[in-house]
Amino acid sequence: MQNVTKKLTIDGEILVIHGISTGLVSVKKSFRESSKKGILSILSFLFDKEFTEWLPIWVWVVEHPEGVFLIDTGASSNVTNKDYFKSSGWFANWFNTSQFKFKVTRDDEIDVQLSKIGIKKETVEKVLLTHLHLDHTDGLKHFPETKIYVNLRELKKPYGNLPKLYPDRFKPLGIELNSVFENFDNTKLITQDGSLIAIQTEGHTHGHTAYLLRTDEGYVLFAGDLIYYQDQLLLDKYAGGHVNVKKAKKSYSNIKGFAKKHKLVILPSHDIDSAERLNEMKPIYENTSFANKP
Ligand SMILES: [Zn+2]
Repeated sequence: MQNVTKKLTIDGEILVIHGISTGLVSVKKSFRESSKKGILSILSFLFDKEFTEWLPIWVWVVEHPEGVFLIDTGASSNVTNKDYFKSSGWFANWFNTSQFKFKVTRDDEIDVQLSKIGIKKETVEKVLLTHLHLDHTDGLKHFPETKIYVNLRELKKPYGNLPKLYPDRFKPLGIELNSVFENFDNTKLITQDGSLIAIQTEGHTHGHTAYLLRTDEGYVLFAGDLIYYQDQLLLDKYAGGHVNVKKAKKSYSNIKGFAKKHKLVILPSHDIDSAERLNEMKPIYENTSFANKP
């Protein structure tokens, strides 16, 4: 997967976004998308024999005037070791080895790739997690001294996480998303200038969180796994792997409401097209009357 670097500005100062794919994942087709609900959707992907094409596992690096922020940490090459999931019990072992396929080498890991673009991992200000699934947390071991931020709701009520595989010193800071921002009821400012905001976008997990970044060229939404590709949002299609489709629906409509007022570029964590969309700053809706500020 081709990485991407986009130079933008924020209030006239330089801002750089890097998309780094930490290897590839493939999921069951009906895990990515299903018209069924609840237990039926789970059964449909468990017994699905078809896998998707290889998908990226994006980590987003934001070089912001207030520091370097990492959104998620990607996968590690351990996922290709068939015994890696055994410590999590037979079910998790069976689930993770039968429902997902991974292609991750040591060189794909985030520490190696950060140093390749000249960023020392010690200089990362904060790691911001979208949720606690392994393909987003498995690079955490490379950041033992960095502050790790997670939505408190995700910490209190995780879904499908594998705590046995967390790094030894995993002490994330739970952030309470308790302020309203435009269309979103549960948000929290991350930077002092208010340009980077954590936004609760439940559906994939109970406390799934996207990160919204204001730039002079428009807003960018690091959408995590709320959607796997942009059309899923436009066409109201839902993943079979969602914990709660009703809440995902609400998250979709909040994002679409916001995108009708502002130029919004949406970057899901496993979307092949995220790189090109960032490169061209291609919004979900085109409209010349968009406001670039709240
Ligand atoms: Zn994921």
